[in-house]
Amino acid sequence: MVKRAEIVEKLKASLSPDRFDHSLRVEKIACLLARKNGVSTQKAGLAGLLHDYARKFSGPDLLRQARRLKCAIDPISKFEPKLFHAELSALLAEKEFGIKSRAVLAAIRKHTLGSPAMTTLEKIVYLADHIEEGRDFRGVKKIRRLAFKDLDRAILESATAKLNYLLENRLPIHPGTILARNYYLLKEKRK
Ligand code: FE
Ligand code: FE
Repeated sequence: MVKRAEIVEKLKASLSPDRFDHSLRVEKIACLLARKNGVSTQKAGLAGLLHDYARKFSGPDLLRQARRLKCAIDPISKFEPKLFHAELSALLAEKEFGIKSRAVLAAIRKHTLGSPAMTTLEKIVYLADHIEEGRDFRGVKKIRRLAFKDLDRAILESATAKLNYLLENRLPIHPGTILARNYYLLKEKRK
């Protein structure tokens, strides 16, 4: 089992100071949410720490790595190669840090787009990334509050905020974001 101190040291050496601090804040709130929801704080913390590791690469490098590792290349990710960082962070967490937990790797992989029917750990890492205390966007306080009351509703609000941002800025929307939001929207409406 790789030690937290070693991971932190390697992250610090690889990521920009802002990205490194963000990763620590994601770890922190992921642990709080894990405790609240009775899932492993160790797994949540690990996924939180490592979720953005591949952001050490630039956009063009992410695209190159994705090609090299035979990731599926869709037109949106090709336009916005940063989207590959989730998948690549999961691959590197396994390869470079020896993380074997499928649950942790999946949580890292899904942290940007989310997906329908996420596990509690996946929901926690997705939300932790979006609501860590350094985030400041319209509606973040509400989502932060919701995250500690109702993970599914918080995810619906989080995905909606991400969509709104993309629409307002005329940016392409990855279908994964829509799939995730539809799932949690329909779940809410069925209640
Ligand atoms: Fe990320
Ligand atoms: Fe992040």
